[in-house]
Amino acid sequence: MVKGRLHSFETFGAVDGPGIRTVVFLQGCPARCAYCHNPDTWDVHGGSEVETKQIVDRAKRGMSYYGEKGGVTFSGGEPLLQGEFLIQTIRALKKVGINSIIDTSGTYIDEFTEKVIEECEMVLLDVKHSQPEKFWDITGKKQDNLLKLIDLINKHGKHVWVRQVIVPGINDSQANIKSLNEFIKRITHVDKVELLGYHNLGVEKYEKLGIKYRLKDVEPMDQKELNKLSALVSF
Ligand code: SF4
Repeated sequence: MVKGRLHSFETFGAVDGPGIRTVVFLQGCPARCAYCHNPDTWDVHGGSEVETKQIVDRAKRGMSYYGEKGGVTFSGGEPLLQGEFLIQTIRALKKVGINSIIDTSGTYIDEFTEKVIEECEMVLLDVKHSQPEKFWDITGKKQDNLLKLIDLINKHGKHVWVRQVIVPGINDSQANIKSLNEFIKRITHVDKVELLGYHNLGVEKYEKLGIKYRLKDVEPMDQKELNKLSALVSF
């Protein structure tokens, strides 16, 4: 059995997919998003070692709250970085009747990714930016893997919740929302699109880790402006 690397658990997650969910934050991320509020998940060797059984045992504790829709969401970091461990764990969760969702940025894919997509219930897709150059500016990664991941999601008929963090001065324009609307047309089954307002609550973590925070002069996203932009979303 392959072992994984765990950052943390969150119980009773209500925003990371349908129903009440146990959120498993896996350790490691290849991206370096300008506004990442979990830079402590970046190091693939950080966190702690975890076995599939520990995740299943932890997830089983929430079973009485999951109802029909709830279950487990694998987030991070970038969970697809641990594809082999994910496949094994999603299958083990299925055996006890718990569904799994993958919360991914599409910045990493490998030979295990297709199987992960096939096995999971649905995908939360964090589209950092619809345009390749701006995607690069935000994440430090090319957009290619995101496009390949969308092909896999479509191939296996999975449903998607699209999310994008809206950052003042970076993607808070009407033109960006139009571009996002166009981009998501390439996803066959979109059930929801959520714009999330940028906040700077993660800044202290950067100070502790001694990492420069690129957006230190950027104010949090204004809620009213965010609502206006959200009204422009179409899918
Ligand atoms: S993909 Fe997520 S975890 Fe990785 S750097 Fe970006 S915001 Fe942070």
